[in-house]
Amino acid sequence: MVKEVGLTNLKNLYSDELEAFLANLGAERFRAAQLVEWLYGRGIQSFSEMTNLPVALRSRLAEVAFISRLKKLAEAKGEDGTIKYLFALEDGQAIETVRMKYRYGHAVCVSTQVGCRMACRFCASTIGGLIRNLEPAEMLDQVLAVNGELAPLGQRVGRVVLMGSGEPLDNYEAVLRFIRLLNLARGLNIGYRHITLSTSGVAPGIIRLAGEGLPITLAVSLHAPNNELRDYLMPINRRYPLEELLPACHDYADRTGRRVTFEYTLIRGVNDSPREARELVRLLSGHLAHVNLIPLNPVKEREFQPTSPEGVRRFARLLGEGGIPATIRRELGGDIDAACGQLRRKVLAEARLGDLKDATDAEPK
Ligand code: SAH
Repeated sequence: MVKEVGLTNLKNLYSDELEAFLANLGAERFRAAQLVEWLYGRGIQSFSEMTNLPVALRSRLAEVAFISRLKKLAEAKGEDGTIKYLFALEDGQAIETVRMKYRYGHAVCVSTQVGCRMACRFCASTIGGLIRNLEPAEMLDQVLAVNGELAPLGQRVGRVVLMGSGEPLDNYEAVLRFIRLLNLARGLNIGYRHITLSTSGVAPGIIRLAGEGLPITLAVSLHAPNNELRDYLMPINRRYPLEELLPACHDYADRTGRRVTFEYTLIRGVNDSPREARELVRLLSGHLAHVNLIPLNPVKEREFQPTSPEGVRRFARLLGEGGIPATIRRELGGDIDAACGQLRRKVLAEARLGDLKDATDAEPK
């Protein structure tokens, strides 16, 4: 990040920190609210555009701070309205962001790390390991970039899911800051109830999150009803096995009063038999839980295949008969490699072949 060495990315700061930062520059406190409006509301890209700030403050800010931005490298549009973006960060690393339509508006699926170190066997994000954590501003920039795309339609993002590449609870501090910044009234103003955090099962992180007092939705990627199978699919389970993970999830539900969503990706012949459905019923019975069944998105580098649609329905029926509420996730973006990390891998592979075209006139408008 050559040009930003020593410069402060203002989108990493809470309002009171921004006030202190401005006070250090000799500016009044109320300037912080103006800055927040420029940074989040209007998505501007330079201090010179902040026309209600004194010129001297604008040039002082340009000396000590910078406004980060993402550069659009590629995008893929699905038939269902899902759009997957590949964005370049200031240091040239690439991340994926997915925009999805739901009945009442637009949701954004945000990446929290470049790459991932969880090593789930079916996932593309983790193939090259973890490159680095994202900063809060880099997560906010994903939402801001999508807002920029929606602005000409007079629309904006209403929901955020932390389900892109990376393990949010492996980047805890930055992710929590991001979530709180999303909620800034003069900023993006996204309600906590419209935010979902998905984890591979970092049990201590779940317990810590339960204590934050934020009514966000917790989703846990379960994918297996017993340790043997989960150890095989998700190495994190060897660290935090089910007898540790599930109490943490139940604790989250008890302390927040919010139902935990368990995600279960159905993989043909691996975790989709009636035996596993019954085991899952036994595992979750008696708790405030809900299962979201997701047909696997096949990943080129991985050997797994998705369960058939009939198989998915049968699995859902068995859960329902066992008293576990289950839904089948509409396969958003199945036609555009929307599963974690797939577009990034594809574009990086193409770039190595030398034919990466800048799919842009790049900047988020
Ligand atoms: N690290 C977090 C969030 C990112 S992954 C987590 O594990 O929850 C978001 C979801 O996509 C997880 O449930 C993950 O297991 C799932 N996923 C990853 N690769 C997939 C694939 N090829 N097909 C279907 N779901 C996949």
